[in-house]
Amino acid sequence: MLKVPEFESIFGRPPRWIVAAPGRVNVIGEHTDYNDGFVLPMAIERYTVMAADISESSAPRILIHDSRARDTAQIDVSKPIAKADPRWSNYIRGVAAGFQSRGVKIPALEVALVSTVPLGGGLSSSAALEVCAATLLETVTGTKLDPIEKALLCQKAEHEFAGVPCGIMDQFVSVMGQKDHLLLLDCRSRQTELVPLNDPSVAWLIINTNVKHELSGGEYARRRAQCETAANILGVPALRDATADALERARGQMDLFVFRRARHVIGEIERTLQAAQGIRNSDWPAVGRHMYASHYSLRDDFEVSCKELDAVVEICQSIGLPGGVYGCRMTGAGFGGSCVALVEAGAVDAITKQIATAYKAATTADEAKNGIEPTIFSSRPAAGATVIKS
Ligand code: ADP
Ligand code: MG
Repeated sequence: MLKVPEFESIFGRPPRWIVAAPGRVNVIGEHTDYNDGFVLPMAIERYTVMAADISESSAPRILIHDSRARDTAQIDVSKPIAKADPRWSNYIRGVAAGFQSRGVKIPALEVALVSTVPLGGGLSSSAALEVCAATLLETVTGTKLDPIEKALLCQKAEHEFAGVPCGIMDQFVSVMGQKDHLLLLDCRSRQTELVPLNDPSVAWLIINTNVKHELSGGEYARRRAQCETAANILGVPALRDATADALERARGQMDLFVFRRARHVIGEIERTLQAAQGIRNSDWPAVGRHMYASHYSLRDDFEVSCKELDAVVEICQSIGLPGGVYGCRMTGAGFGGSCVALVEAGAVDAITKQIATAYKAATTADEAKNGIEPTIFSSRPAAGATVIKS
């Protein structure tokens, strides 16, 4: 059983409960969520963990010690929970407020928080934190939520307490992910399908470029608006309902940027379904081709890549099938963050070294004179939120 020594060293006794929730990587289906399309993420073997016990103090509050930030937050549970400092506590406050709004009384707790999900690297440490908190409150209060309701409660916390207008993917996969499965999620109907992937001959590599370009906020809003414009011109509720042919026929009615944004989304929804089929068939070269096609479409039509993400994909392509790489693409909203690659499991170490060396060499020109060190790790599709000790 997983131990959280932090709890014992801070609070002087072993914890009564331990729960965990994973980060995630989106294998394919980028910028499709707010167009009512499909996404295909998986939970990764990186977890946010909370160890907890009923508070020994008489104060009606949750005391959370975060070992990474070496910071402590206090949440008063005797009244309706609102936003407050420290900023990171708002993800937990929002979740606790969601339980309160369902009439659940939250007891005073002492909590040790530890995490192996990289922060702000596009691997959804935020959803891992929310879903971990929700799993803890379910366990402590005995109020088990339906998985969809749980994910939506966490999404609402991110919207209202963290101010991030995220889609449903991150929380859904952190709640519902299963070991050796990807999660095909229909962002319109919220239906999910677990797609098995337990072939030991393949592995996923997650390559963090360790750059984050600042323009991302406004660009994201602009892309969303362009997608809406395209759907309006095409006369459909969302780009999910449009076809490539219909878009082609309407080409003259929209500006070139709107056209290209829509072409990405319509193509990407199709590729996501095809990639899921490729995984069902264990057709790894086909899955890899869809991943490359996704990247080029994000780079050229949706224009949310950046030179560091492109460098990683080019390096992977040059290693190619002979070196054990099936495919690679940027993952997440773009303008930095991480790439995901499908590789031969036996070649993970060699590919990791090759990418690290070549990426460093490719990034010597500007910001960092000695090149940027990427952070690379492999993961199999992992389990969603779990109660480790109850
Ligand atoms: P991502 O979800 O891609 O990692 P976000 O910006 O959405 O990036 O969320 C990162 C934020 O979530 C951090 O800045 C921090 O406020 C909060 N957070 C996530 N995990 C933790 C943790 N283990 N400890 C403290 N804060 C965390
Ligand atoms: Mg996030």
